[in-house]
Amino acid sequence: MTQAAQLSEILAQPARRSVSLLGATGSVGASTLDLIGRNADAFKVVALTAKTNVAELARNARRFGAQTAVIAEEGLYGELKSALAGTDVRPAAGTAALVEAAMEPADCIVAAISGAAGLAASLAAARQGRRLALANKECLVAAGDLFMSEVRRSGTELLPVDSEHSAVFQALAGESQSGIERIVLTASGGPFRTWPVEALANATPEQALRHPNWSMGDKITIDSATLMNKGLELIEAYHLFPVEPDQLDAIVHPQSIVHCLVEYRDGSVLAHLAEPDMRTPIAYALSWPRRMSTPTPRLDLVKLASLTFEAPDLKRFPALALAKAALRQGGLAPTVLNAANEIAVEAFLHRRIGFMDIARIVEKTLHRSTHCLSGRPASDLEEVMAIDAEARELARDVMAHS
Ligand code: NDP
Repeated sequence: MTQAAQLSEILAQPARRSVSLLGATGSVGASTLDLIGRNADAFKVVALTAKTNVAELARNARRFGAQTAVIAEEGLYGELKSALAGTDVRPAAGTAALVEAAMEPADCIVAAISGAAGLAASLAAARQGRRLALANKECLVAAGDLFMSEVRRSGTELLPVDSEHSAVFQALAGESQSGIERIVLTASGGPFRTWPVEALANATPEQALRHPNWSMGDKITIDSATLMNKGLELIEAYHLFPVEPDQLDAIVHPQSIVHCLVEYRDGSVLAHLAEPDMRTPIAYALSWPRRMSTPTPRLDLVKLASLTFEAPDLKRFPALALAKAALRQGGLAPTVLNAANEIAVEAFLHRRIGFMDIARIVEKTLHRSTHCLSGRPASDLEEVMAIDAEARELARDVMAHS
């Protein structure tokens, strides 16, 4: 976008930017509402959604004067309706209502549902031709080609919310595609970064949920502990930025201060630094091309004294290698990887499998799925959903027989 076009866009902006928030009761949802609450003169809320948390959804819908509140579980409609009695908020329930919420006129849709469950609503948001602040990385992993073709077709303005991808977006600003040599995403290494492999086998969900730097939802926190999260992020980066799979890599950086490194062909490396607080990338996605103030702690490099980096250990954290292989394989392999991982993470959280079994189940599911071999992308949402469902069944079967 030229400077003149940016300026005219800023001037043309309505006084208050309207925002719909899919996944309003989660960790990203709470950070987004925190920012909106602090900037009530700049934003207004259109639709808020949740899966089962009626109380929190209704509380936020009342507080922010939302037009619509959607609960995904249909059986909770009555409860939501009662919780919103006496307000102007329209209650709705079910997965179709979730998709409708994504289609309500809003300047910006924040897609922050966790997992492939967010795919239909995130895809509907991608078709609106407005701004999409995307946190729901699993939808890009499961259906990246389809998703990005809808973004391009509709002219949707896609802003990444994932901190590393927001960092890359910023480090690429004003650069030409031909100058990029490599994009490196940083990983904290999670709570088990220094654990020996024997101890990892007995790691509990409580230990895995104790992330050293970030406060996030359960699923992504377990993905961070296995390093699958970084693998999903490499696939996400492949779809968001103009690079090939072999131009993407990950390194471990325990302090989570540097979020990405973009290497250029002249030897320059542009890094993005910030304290690990999701409100910084969310604010960027909400206010781009301007910047808004946030209450996040300011970076003090003198106090930090040192920033360290190390190579990921793919023996102790094989999930990262599996995701990299699925990225290279392309087609439907990432769809299968994502579905199997969601099943395995859920089983680990319910103590049905051990920590190291997560990657094992994903690997076996990938080997058994014939879809991984075709190399072709899914043709539509229905096909993605069907392959996702099949991979979940396969992963359950692998789990039952291992
Ligand atoms: P949470 O688990 O904290 O929140 C998930 C949100 O989605 C909740 O509002 C939840 O509702 C809703 N939800 C879950 N399942 C369904 C479903 N089946 N149908 C409809 N709604 C559903 O997740 P996070 O906020 O941590 O993560 C959200 C997304 O953002 C993920 O894709 C994650 O990878 C990504 N992300 C998160 C970061 C973070 O810091 N948390 C950082 C970068 C990316 P309810 O509360 O009712 O269950």
